[in-house]
Amino acid sequence: MDNIDMRYIEPHAHMVSRTTDDYERMALAGCEAVCEPAFWAGFDRSSPAGFFDYFGQLTEHEPKRAAKFGLKHFCWLCINSKEAEDVKLAEEVIALIPQFINRPNVLGIGEIGLNKNSRNELRVLEMQVELAAKFNQLILVHTPHLEDKLKGTRLILDVLKNDPRIRPECVIIDHVEEHTVEMVLDCGMWAGMTLYPETKCTPARAIDILETYGSERLWMNSACDWGVSDPLAVPKTALEMRKRGHVAEAIEKIIFQNPKNFLGQSAHFKLGS
Ligand SMILES: [Zn+2]
Repeated sequence: MDNIDMRYIEPHAHMVSRTTDDYERMALAGCEAVCEPAFWAGFDRSSPAGFFDYFGQLTEHEPKRAAKFGLKHFCWLCINSKEAEDVKLAEEVIALIPQFINRPNVLGIGEIGLNKNSRNELRVLEMQVELAAKFNQLILVHTPHLEDKLKGTRLILDVLKNDPRIRPECVIIDHVEEHTVEMVLDCGMWAGMTLYPETKCTPARAIDILETYGSERLWMNSACDWGVSDPLAVPKTALEMRKRGHVAEAIEKIIFQNPKNFLGQSAHFKLGS
């Protein structure tokens, strides 16, 4: 890579929480598409109607906002694990999803997963794996942070592996770290590394993981949201890779080709170029 030209896909960003300046900076850095999993809003929604409006925002409004900066916008639908303690609410929200699933920017069901590894969260995870299987959707999984990550990742992998309808190559397990990446890749699933300035993976740690495990079925994302996070974390890490001697093709693979290959398993994923 002789110049700073690069193209990349941001596979995990919560753009409803970001400003138009972020879209502009991402476009300037070479972003071609941004993918937005459904997530917690930072506060609990009070009713299924709150989710109905959110799914409308993800499938109608946000693609238009991204398009103003030449960016394609895709999304994933679900109820997140932080709001999954209330199983009745979750059932009502899950019942809303099929009417949105065929909208042109919807890639699959996500980010489902576990937060505190509770019994109710596990029940709601199983319901959403069932939804993905029924509608033949890709799955994007959030794994719990810090000390519960290993246990939570094991529980999630067990749910997915026990359902013969789920093809491992159609699942990405996100927020992997050094102690969880290998078990995910060994299952034949994809793994996502989340680049956060302090917690989760720093760019240096993510590159260490790449150098240890290779770049098959791995991608990197910023997971930028309403908290402290960096929407340019992916291109900044690409620069760091170049400093550490990675060649242009290797960088392009991890920041562009890999997400394109995984997401391209959905008929809805089409880039402008
Ligand atoms: Zn997220």
